[in-house]
Amino acid sequence: MSYRCGIGYDLHRLAEGRKLIVGGIELPFDKGPVGHSDGDVLAHALCDALFGAAGLGDIGSHFPDTDPKWKGANSLIFLEHARKLLDEKHFVIEHVDAVVILEKPKLGPHFPKMRDTLAKALGVAPEKIHLKAKTNEGVDAVGRGEAIASYVVATLTSI
Ligand SMILES: [Zn+2]
Repeated sequence: MSYRCGIGYDLHRLAEGRKLIVGGIELPFDKGPVGHSDGDVLAHALCDALFGAAGLGDIGSHFPDTDPKWKGANSLIFLEHARKLLDEKHFVIEHVDAVVILEKPKLGPHFPKMRDTLAKALGVAPEKIHLKAKTNEGVDAVGRGEAIASYVVATLTSI
């Protein structure tokens, strides 16, 4: 059995009038990510971490933002697609560790629902998904509430 790790990173600008979708769920807030899809940074970084670990390129190569098909897309479909590709290559998701960096609102109370939602999309137990939240201490665009970012590390095994 071999172990493989992948890293994913994503950032989206925040603007008024957009829904704040993080980890596949909508959070009550007056701003949300600007993006071709729903702008879910956690789902996008997670997708890239999985693709990276499996050696399958990146999210942009699978779901180009020039394709009208993905306009306003629910990013959970990206994860479901990634899961299918991993299955085909006989990769098993062992663990996912994620950080979401956002000044406001507080994400912690929403983590149980996020974990369940992401776990369902990936077909794994929620215990395999670990989520953390940080602020940016008021520094830079994220700290000023102008952007949201996420880092994810995924560990896969293959037989
Ligand atoms: Zn993104």
